[in-house]
Amino acid sequence: MLKGKVVVVTGSTSGIGLAIARGFAAQGADVMLNGLGDAAEIEAVRSGIERDHGVRAFFDGADLTRGDAVRGLVDGTVRTLGRIDILVNNAGIQHTSPIEEFPVDKWDRIIALNLSAVFHGTAAALPHMKKQGWGRIVNIASTHGLVASPFKSAYVAAKHGVVGFTKSTALEAAGTGVTANAICPGWVRTALVETQITALSKSKGLDQEAAARELLAEKQPSLEFVTPEQLAAMAVYLASDAAAQITGTTLAVDGGWTAR
Ligand code: NAD
Repeated sequence: MLKGKVVVVTGSTSGIGLAIARGFAAQGADVMLNGLGDAAEIEAVRSGIERDHGVRAFFDGADLTRGDAVRGLVDGTVRTLGRIDILVNNAGIQHTSPIEEFPVDKWDRIIALNLSAVFHGTAAALPHMKKQGWGRIVNIASTHGLVASPFKSAYVAAKHGVVGFTKSTALEAAGTGVTANAICPGWVRTALVETQITALSKSKGLDQEAAARELLAEKQPSLEFVTPEQLAAMAVYLASDAAAQITGTTLAVDGGWTAR
């Protein structure tokens, strides 16, 4: 379905981003991977995608807390792979703390990566997409872009910002063949959430699996984790022709979290 298209997925060395990169590669798209991690493991992931799907896969380890690095990732993709058709702004981090004690450097880092990087990437990609009359921007926001939880102020602020920025992007791009949407996942069992499960297990004296069940019970009525593959399928759908008129919206994939 996406043969000849080029997709950039930020934060695709693990978790949701990696599943999304694989999902696009499975549809024939060439992929630019990005993220942090062990060089040998990343190379194994990159070459595995090429081998499994017969596409070109490159890796750029840019630290996306820096705006110029985000723009460099997009520009480098166009130089290396010839174009950019789909941008998935996925890279994100979390930190939990009461507002009064929230470390300023953590606040700045979360806003830089979870929100400002979405702006920089979009600003760099839009001219290419508009020029070719086709493009897809998929922002991985969160249920925390729609509702809040205590002790996640920076994350909630950033993700609400992403939802608003997605709407602005959609309006500015309307009629150009470029769409912009935000996917809002509930709990997905990745490294980002495993840390929170471990914290809960310690604070409540539960084993890891009991803590995972408690985490779900608090927010996610389905009592099941969303899988990275389900989110990848949603991102691929948003890149399809069937989704050409879906723009400026949020798609919650959250087991009922935000229906309460
Ligand atoms: P993860 O920790 O598994 O993956 C995060 C990715 O971002 C990794 O590839 C990591 O290397 C990369 N990254 C971190 N700092 C970076 C930096 N400075 N520059 C470039 N890349 C960087 O987490 P995940 O759960 O897969 O999260 C992916 C996205 O999904 C995030 O935006 C997160 O907020 C969002 N999300 C996750 C959940 C969940 O329950 N896991 C729910 C809703 C939204």
